[in-house]
Amino acid sequence: MPPSIKGSGRCLCGGIEYRVHGPLRDVVFCHCTRCRRTHGHFAAYTACARDDLELVEDRGLRWYEADDRRRGFCAECGASVFWEREGNSTVSISAGTLDEPTGLAPSRHIFTADSGDYYELPDEVEHQP
Ligand SMILES: [Zn+2]
Ligand SMILES: [Zn+2]
Repeated sequence: MPPSIKGSGRCLCGGIEYRVHGPLRDVVFCHCTRCRRTHGHFAAYTACARDDLELVEDRGLRWYEADDRRRGFCAECGASVFWEREGNSTVSISAGTLDEPTGLAPSRHIFTADSGDYYELPDEVEHQP
């Protein structure tokens, strides 16, 4: 990768492909019920400045809008790839869609009060109910 590119990734089928031209945040794990219903389990997100995100391929990209935020998913393979909130300067990117090595580390778990009753929260990182 050219040094100006700090990360890249894609959905399962390649209908969404992206590059990131700026720093990526360490990974936040979100246990809210919206993320769990969208991803099928709790979600793992990195994030970057919206201006640093380049869509290399977006033929599959659709947006689902609800509750002042929107989620970008692939209409061809169903992958949940982005989410962003109106007025935020950042866009969140599902960490599992990144190409490796990502160079990222776990940051914290959020909305832990909404976590599912079918798994234990890991205790090595910060929790934020
Ligand atoms: Zn896809
Ligand atoms: Zn969430």
